[in-house]
Amino acid sequence: MKKPIIGIDIGGTTVKTGIIDNDGNILDKWEIPTNRTNCGESIVSDIWKSLTERLDQNEMPKESVEGIGIGAPGFIDSDTGHVFEAVNIGWKNMPLSEELRAISKLPVFVTNDANAAVLGENWKGAGGNVKNLFALTLGTGVGGGIIVNGNILNGESGMAGEVGHTTVEPDGVLCNCGRRGCLETIASATGMVRQAKMKIEQHSESLLVSRYNASGNITAKDIFELANDGDVPCKDIIAYTADVLGMAISNAATLINPSKVLIGGGVSAAGEEFIQLIEDAFRNYSLARVSGICELKLAQLGNDAGIIGAAFLVKNKLQNIKF
Ligand code: ZN
Repeated sequence: MKKPIIGIDIGGTTVKTGIIDNDGNILDKWEIPTNRTNCGESIVSDIWKSLTERLDQNEMPKESVEGIGIGAPGFIDSDTGHVFEAVNIGWKNMPLSEELRAISKLPVFVTNDANAAVLGENWKGAGGNVKNLFALTLGTGVGGGIIVNGNILNGESGMAGEVGHTTVEPDGVLCNCGRRGCLETIASATGMVRQAKMKIEQHSESLLVSRYNASGNITAKDIFELANDGDVPCKDIIAYTADVLGMAISNAATLINPSKVLIGGGVSAAGEEFIQLIEDAFRNYSLARVSGICELKLAQLGNDAGIIGAAFLVKNKLQNIKF
């Protein structure tokens, strides 16, 4: 039997860890809180402590583990496993691979969390081990990842696939990155809520305004619900968001020529109708030979994508396995 692999997904609130077999099946998984005090200095030792406990419980000696793969947030040099900065957990210049390798004496590999999720989806989820794939995640922000010729695309400074910060409105609103009109300012949950707040001022007679006045707030979920109830401003927001997303996907697909585009994240769970609108726009904007070869699908693995993809990273580095 081939050795099991450890897959770790470090997030701002929890660290998810899985013991994963060589075929990508989860043998055990658990999560611990991310301790962000003192710039997250105890996170690595917390991870190792919980991992050794679980390996003991599963009667797996440390030596039986092939290696540890990690998906971490922030700017990462995936060749060295060095985290330059991860704002939401407080790390700055954190030699993540080196530290975990020193205490575990096991091979350790790191990539960013979005890329780990893409690897997981392609290995065991909706991707189906294709060679060329583009994935985007619609949540609080808009994330993305690219697989080309069977490998994850990191780029020269780890920024490849950051589709959320492609410009879609040159004079648009300010983005978290300091620039204007990024895709994320429109197509994230936050972006949709921002669009709704602008509509509130223009449409005093809508369901949107009644909902806002009743609860004092509006969420992305409200927007989808109200659109279903026939509210015109909310339907407009969804139509515009889907159109912009379809255009962004089409542009990305023209550069990558993928056989699959995967959409994941909280906003993607809003319903088939929204996904259909995005697909219609994508088909509409795309070259026939790009569109014709490309299937658009929903991501399947949810929260497990990160740990499964992190385990794949170990296979990729140690066994030279590609898609
Ligand atoms: Zn931006």
